[in-house]
Amino acid sequence: MIDVIEARAERTAAGSSAATFNPDLATLRALGTALPGPLPVAINGVRVAASVRPRKFVIEGGDDTPVTMPRTAFQVRYPDCSVMIDSGLDQATHNSFSPDKPEPYYAEQFTALRHALDEARLIILTHHHADHVAGVVTAANFSALAAKTIIAMDVADCLMNSPHRPHLKLAPDAIAKFIVLDYPQLYPVAPGIVLIRAPGHSPDSQMVYIRLQSGQEILHSVDSAWIMDNIRLVKGKSAPWVKEDGAAIMAQLRWLKSLTETESNVTILVTHDDELFERLTRNGTIGQLKT
Ligand SMILES: [Zn+2]
Repeated sequence: MIDVIEARAERTAAGSSAATFNPDLATLRALGTALPGPLPVAINGVRVAASVRPRKFVIEGGDDTPVTMPRTAFQVRYPDCSVMIDSGLDQATHNSFSPDKPEPYYAEQFTALRHALDEARLIILTHHHADHVAGVVTAANFSALAAKTIIAMDVADCLMNSPHRPHLKLAPDAIAKFIVLDYPQLYPVAPGIVLIRAPGHSPDSQMVYIRLQSGQEILHSVDSAWIMDNIRLVKGKSAPWVKEDGAAIMAQLRWLKSLTETESNVTILVTHDDELFERLTRNGTIGQLKT
């Protein structure tokens, strides 16, 4: 166990000092079809809440214009089941971020998300932040959800040792209920779904590559960027409370931007970009959550 932790620490150190991020698309595509079983048929999304922040926090050089940042989760639909990517957050956890000034919360959408989590075959948590994990961690049926939730070893480590909110801290016996996975760079977690190790936003952050039966490809960049402009302009976040590996994030933004320029078949998702969510919903790339 200690060897594993040391090996991970070395990898993290190597990753940030080199500040390169260049997952091979051909390898991602090959891994996307490595596992037996039909590829997914659709991807659906849900916004359960939002935080509104001045643009100067969202992107370096931004002004005071308020930016609505939704808190989203995604459902990858297969012919006979579904896989969830992230779990949203309950209202109490959402409100714990700004108890004096409640921000938008869409309780009906969270109820729909809870049903989708209950019905999912598998749940993937991309990193330990509250808006991604609380839907599982605070669920009344936590044990049942954890039993079908895959988390990377780094996510498990953060949930135990550096939880995003105090009430999300998990003891080792709770972590033992999850399916815990360690992988160096890329991992095909389900047909058409490949995890990409991407420490930067947090030590445990991952991106997710998705390939649909139609051939359409989606790269969920999770929280490396907060909005597409971070990628387009290759400019990081500028919020005083965000403690990221800046060099790693810049390398990820450069890679994501290169995808937008050279890979017209790949649609990039960004967890907290409201305009992008709207546009992809309108053009049919993202559907409505189904249960
Ligand atoms: Zn987030």
